[in-house]
Amino acid sequence: MKAWEMPATMVAEMVREGSLSAVEYVSKILERAEETEPRINAYITLLKEQALRRAEEVDRTVARGEDPGRLAGVAVAVKDNIAVRGVENTCGSRILKGYRPPFNATVVEKLLREGAVIIGKTNMDEFAMGSTTETSAYGPTRNPWNPERVPGGSSGGSGAALAAGSATLALGSDTGGSIRCPAAYTGTYGLKPTYGAVSRYGLVPYANSLEQIGPMARNTADLALLYSVIVGHDPRDSTSLRDSDTRLAHVEHIDPSRLRIGVIRELVEDPVDPRVSRAVWSVLSKLESMGASVEEVSLPLVEYALPAYYIIAMAEASSNLARYDGTRYGFRAPGATWEEMVVETRTRGFGWEVKRRIMLGSFILSAGYVEQYYVKALRVRSAVRRALLELLSKHHVLAGATMPIPAPRLGERIRDPLLLYTMDVATVLANLAGIPALNTPADVVDGAPVGAQFMGPPMGEPLLLGVSRLVEEATRFRDEVVQP
Ligand code: GLN
Repeated sequence: MKAWEMPATMVAEMVREGSLSAVEYVSKILERAEETEPRINAYITLLKEQALRRAEEVDRTVARGEDPGRLAGVAVAVKDNIAVRGVENTCGSRILKGYRPPFNATVVEKLLREGAVIIGKTNMDEFAMGSTTETSAYGPTRNPWNPERVPGGSSGGSGAALAAGSATLALGSDTGGSIRCPAAYTGTYGLKPTYGAVSRYGLVPYANSLEQIGPMARNTADLALLYSVIVGHDPRDSTSLRDSDTRLAHVEHIDPSRLRIGVIRELVEDPVDPRVSRAVWSVLSKLESMGASVEEVSLPLVEYALPAYYIIAMAEASSNLARYDGTRYGFRAPGATWEEMVVETRTRGFGWEVKRRIMLGSFILSAGYVEQYYVKALRVRSAVRRALLELLSKHHVLAGATMPIPAPRLGERIRDPLLLYTMDVATVLANLAGIPALNTPADVVDGAPVGAQFMGPPMGEPLLLGVSRLVEEATRFRDEVVQP
């Protein structure tokens, strides 16, 4: 097995027992990145020397007879909106060019404590706004399965790095689908945790009330391993759950004959592409043949969830992005007066999608409209949460498509914002409700993967990971690395 095809569990075990040198393995991953990056562009920053130095440190720890930790030597890619001390953190934006955070995100501290090697910072849609990684100021990422197609977004670099073998594990963030979407299109596993289960300290905020950092991997055991490292209460994040701990990363053993799956009709029927529905049903019928009960349920609120999500996300974004004014971080344009400098910095620093959202978000929150849009969206949000919890009181998990369409070609969706936004119809539900959801690969359509989505009750991650393992056993997708 090639180093870049090895699962994380195997790398960590071999490094810990001294049968694999972290330096040798990390060099191989870096070689692979050198080979694939010109075509894929999964990384904004590749940490060559730093990763090798870190791997040496891990090898020395092993040589001293000490335990380097549960991720010993494993190459982890970190999305470029998560702070790594001293490493440029652009969020895919020109406005943060040159910004090097003087601190680590809590999740990064946790990775380092367990012996992980941070291999680079991955490409993303600007400030995580998008579903294709095309809004990045650093050029689009291509799908390793089919470079004419997008890898999904906004954590597209993380998904593409896993599929191409230029990382063994990856962190993403998910505000409305940004982990599950690229997982679906790159044939990988991605988990959006229960809101508050993972610390957001050190994550550059887009829409705080919706987003979570989460793990991405090429198999379920790796996904659970990475999750077990990053999960847990953090006093530095006021929304962090007190009772969040590693138990949430346990892969529950599921007796399929006792598993009740509710299939959300609206997420497998028109307007979901029939090729995607077919792939989702093929996964569900495999689970059914193992003994699971699969029953269709209806969630008519799906229609209102998407507009509610975009209203809430844009409102929060417009307020979060006010801080980029050229005086504190990153890029600064020249100007004769302070005001001129701020205007120029924001005009040149932000891309068109970010500007659209700042303007719409400011409009949504302005006097006279806040009741009409924002407050109404909050009501829809509560209703969506209630409806999902009601369904989850009758079914262990809910299923549907992750993305309504197969991976689009580059340029195909990006021109029309509404068309772009409709891609998120199935993923935003879990963010609005704060419940955990994951993508499992389902099948390949037009040369690129499509995924099935499972949602669970709050703190229902062990159950979702158990379902993910069942799906993994029933499909071809395990540790699949493709040659781009
Ligand atoms: N595509 C969605 C958006 O642009 C979700 C992005 C995300 O999860 N960060 O808002």
